Amino acid sequence: MPPRPNSVEARDVAHHLHPYTNARRHEEIGPIVMAKGDGVYVEDIDGKRYIEAMAGLWSVAVGFSEQRLVDAAARQMAQLPYYHSFTHKTHAPVVDLAEKLIALAPVPMSKVHFTNSGSEANDLIVKLLRYRSNALGEPARKTIISRLRGYHGVTLASASLTGLPNNHASFDLPGEGVVHTMCPHYWREGEAGESEEAFAARCAAELRATIEARGPETIAAFIAEPVMGAGGVVVPPPTYWAEIKAVLADYPDILFVADEVICGFGRTGEMFGSTYYGLEPDIMTVSKALSSSYLPISAVLMNEKVYGPIAEESARIGTFGHGFTASGHPVAAAVALENLAIIEERGLVANARERGERLQSGLRTLSGHPLVGEVRGIGLIAGVELVTDKEKKIAVQPPGALAAKAFGLIQERGVISRAIGDTLAFCPPLIITDDQIDTVVATVRDGLDALAGEMGMAG
Ligand code: PMP
Repeated sequence: MPPRPNSVEARDVAHHLHPYTNARRHEEIGPIVMAKGDGVYVEDIDGKRYIEAMAGLWSVAVGFSEQRLVDAAARQMAQLPYYHSFTHKTHAPVVDLAEKLIALAPVPMSKVHFTNSGSEANDLIVKLLRYRSNALGEPARKTIISRLRGYHGVTLASASLTGLPNNHASFDLPGEGVVHTMCPHYWREGEAGESEEAFAARCAAELRATIEARGPETIAAFIAEPVMGAGGVVVPPPTYWAEIKAVLADYPDILFVADEVICGFGRTGEMFGSTYYGLEPDIMTVSKALSSSYLPISAVLMNEKVYGPIAEESARIGTFGHGFTASGHPVAAAVALENLAIIEERGLVANARERGERLQSGLRTLSGHPLVGEVRGIGLIAGVELVTDKEKKIAVQPPGALAAKAFGLIQERGVISRAIGDTLAFCPPLIITDDQIDTVVATVRDGLDALAGEMGMAG
């Protein structure tokens, strides 16, 4: 239905180009206007309540009505609403947060640098890797290996790292200096008769072959999310990370970057995805659940091997010529600190692990549904990939149409998920309860049954 004249919806259509939206379609159907949040729920201006089973954008760990974060922001606003950290200045929130992140990190880290989004953090990592290679007198070492379907953001450099066609098409991306290797999705990419272990070994062999083909001396780093999120929730085979670690161990000068933007702070049922898989990153990207997205903030954690040459180079040049006006913003930092305190005090990592089991087993009861190809996930992150032909693992054309329909039917029934291609993603706030999980699963089933009914398939 086209928006009513002069409504918020109509004014939105009139003035607002939306991120990740088909702009022409938006002009036809207009937006859903969200008005308030309450725990795992959000409510639109018509008073319709939804369980936000994506925690916004994989990020609102503590739910949508956490007064302690409001108070932390207000206190800091009243005390010192803004200061920067350029040219030897600092303030308590940014120091406290840097110290806290280093204490939480799964491996020894030396320094933290603050940015405002996951994209900016990964963009900076590309710059840091160049800077470091130049500092080390290795100007040829600039290429970064990332993975097909990996998601690392949308700025020029981070969109190049991202391995998804929609982030490249018509933006003249990816740019130079990035190579994409295999996506570790066994169900989709595994060959007939290939075991999961053999598939994981093939992924690692391809990484090694890529390094060798380019020349190990030209590769600065391998970047990966422990569990892929925006590429469709891809949980790698159990032996994948051990295989990848073994390849990287043969090339000690190639750094490993863990993009923990989704996995960080409890999502997998451990504090970091790197903890879950025993990874030892040289650099980590964090954001999202760092502040539960109440304010924008992200960070790059780096070990001494990374920091040392960068510090030297800044001394040689006279400054580290990078920084944003809002880097380490005191209000965002104060909110992040309070948010991390809540995650720890309320045991939300353990909650993610325990409630995660219920989410995973609940969604797996849908495996037999005629429209479900694969259910995957760990902790409180899951994907349900839809198909119309289970044998061939294909859905009706065009790609994404099936999940878009399912998404709409499920949203009408009060649960917000996200359609990624033909996968429905789920990533609820870490505070979710068993009852709320049961409602999510029942609503998904109901929506899928309705869709199967519409398509003349038995639900
Ligand atoms: N890395 C990962 C793993 C992400 O999931 C995202 C966002 N979905 C980003 C980076 C980019 O973060 P932002 O949207 O804050 O730029």
